[in-house]
Amino acid sequence: MYKLLVIESEGETRHHRVSLLENSGFEVIVAAGVGPGLQVAQKKPPDLILAGLDLTGESNCQLLQAVLTKPDLAAIPVIVMTERSDRDYQRQCLSLGADDCLVIPFDDEELMGAITIRLRKQDALTQRYNTLMRHTAERLNRLSHYDSLTDLPNHHLLQQRLLLAVNRAAVGDQRVALLSLSLDRLRQINNTLGFPAGDTLLRAVARRLTGILPPSTAVARLTGNQFAIVLPAPRSREDVAAITEEVIDSLSRSFSLPGHAVFVTTSVGIALFPDDSQDISTLLRQADAALDWAKGQKSNSYRFYRSDMPVVSGDELQLETWLRYAVERQEFEVRYQPKQSLRTGRIEGAEALIRWHHPDYGYVSPARFIPLAEETGLITVIGEWMLRTVCTQAAEWLAQGLPPVKIAVNLSSVQLNQSQLCEVLKQILADTGLPTQYLELEVTETALMQDISTALGLLHQLKDLGVGLAIDDFGTGYASLGYLRELPIDILKIDTCFVRGADHDYKNQAILQRIIGLAHDLSLLVVAEGVETEAELALLRSYDCDLVQGFLIGAPMTAAELVARL
Ligand code: C2E
Ligand code: MG
Ligand code: MG
Repeated sequence: MYKLLVIESEGETRHHRVSLLENSGFEVIVAAGVGPGLQVAQKKPPDLILAGLDLTGESNCQLLQAVLTKPDLAAIPVIVMTERSDRDYQRQCLSLGADDCLVIPFDDEELMGAITIRLRKQDALTQRYNTLMRHTAERLNRLSHYDSLTDLPNHHLLQQRLLLAVNRAAVGDQRVALLSLSLDRLRQINNTLGFPAGDTLLRAVARRLTGILPPSTAVARLTGNQFAIVLPAPRSREDVAAITEEVIDSLSRSFSLPGHAVFVTTSVGIALFPDDSQDISTLLRQADAALDWAKGQKSNSYRFYRSDMPVVSGDELQLETWLRYAVERQEFEVRYQPKQSLRTGRIEGAEALIRWHHPDYGYVSPARFIPLAEETGLITVIGEWMLRTVCTQAAEWLAQGLPPVKIAVNLSSVQLNQSQLCEVLKQILADTGLPTQYLELEVTETALMQDISTALGLLHQLKDLGVGLAIDDFGTGYASLGYLRELPIDILKIDTCFVRGADHDYKNQAILQRIIGLAHDLSLLVVAEGVETEAELALLRSYDCDLVQGFLIGAPMTAAELVARL
């Protein structure tokens, strides 16, 4: 039933109007002036206001103005009844928001017609508004629950689906398997064929996954190359293994991208409810831990979670969020660790090492956040910041006339696979004016081996620029010695693990001696890392090592401290 508010002074006419409206099926409320009328309207908003105030001398315009300024009333249609027949007055009412203006005398039919048409319009508006709101809500829901690239559920919806599956399984005494799946070569495909190709591949992977899995399974895309699958009520572990193998197998068939057929390899980690945990966020982390394990195996492999696998804590997720803001909030600093020549005794170089102090968390070691930055792609921005900061500093030192030192910057494997790195570096060198021979780049053996052909191409370009190239942590990766000949490098940095305590470890002594000899045969300079004692230093000197770096010479220090050492 529509509710009408009649604002008009008491009397014969109002009485007649109210009974007419009530007999037509409306619920009618009355008020005798602007103030009481507004009060009633705000307490119990009517569907329409009928204002006949000019009849009593109190202005309809006053009421219209007041209604317009009250947000909760402004949308209510108002029909004005007046004795004034001049057009100016009527226009004034309409301009103040009146929906119609009835001039007395008018008959009952006219009044009913005006009311009906207003209410009908109002209904149509409300309906349109509701539809719009529903569409908006649906769109928002899609945006917040689905991945826009693949149209698969995202991590929010995955958690809901997982919770649902777990609750059902708990009632029926069943299991749920959570698979965390990663495409191992997406980054490479993005780098070599471009992001549109990577996007096409991701969509194709999504289609293939939903195509082979039964409809009861939930497939979600979590981040860049990571997907998750919830298998409700598998009969056994073997069942889960069989389905996982089927998934890996289907993704190992080629994908045709425009102009290319590409192959991807997949790693999968699996956690089981209730065997591994009953808590869904723990299950998610366990599946990720198993995934990390699987990634360390040969490609296309899967692993069930085992309690001895390291699970990333909630802290790590927090850290990732903080890391996203660390560059713009200028939370990074550079420390320089001196490298001393055993021939001249001079500090001839320094390694630039990044430092991160989070305002609340405090110091976070690069060994902890660099892998996270690589995983999330943030390393590109961080690496560029590092190169620019270091080159600016080194150029400043030269300009101040300090004895020249070569500054080494560490490069991540992700940067090594970025075709634009060389251009970026060229720009930085041009901007800072640092002569290229004062810059060295350190690349670990493991990083090189991830995609040796791409890396090799880039190393040659960097070499052509004139910067020095060093292999870092040598001896800890799997590089075959054969590569050493082909790599356009100048320096070999022997990893700490061979140096530490070498003075009473015959095996390490043999290794050190051989590596130094081999490097010299290939005309490479050798730097020994992590030198902490005089005994280690003496040993390295007797093996003809070229440079030493370590706490004995100096821990990583600020730029000012390094200047003091020079
Ligand atoms: P790295 O390049 O091998 O750096 C040498 C590490 O050994 C540094 O650790 C250094 O502080 C530490 N160290 C130096 N002398 C001694 C010593 O005598 N004894 C011991 N026990 N340790 C010593 P840090 O600074 O924690 O860095 C760890 C790793 O993080 C680095 O290993 C490097 O791989 C990476 N890293 C640091 N800064 C950057 C950066 O700007 N970019 C990239 N991509 N990686 C970085
Ligand atoms: Mg290094
Ligand atoms: Mg090192």
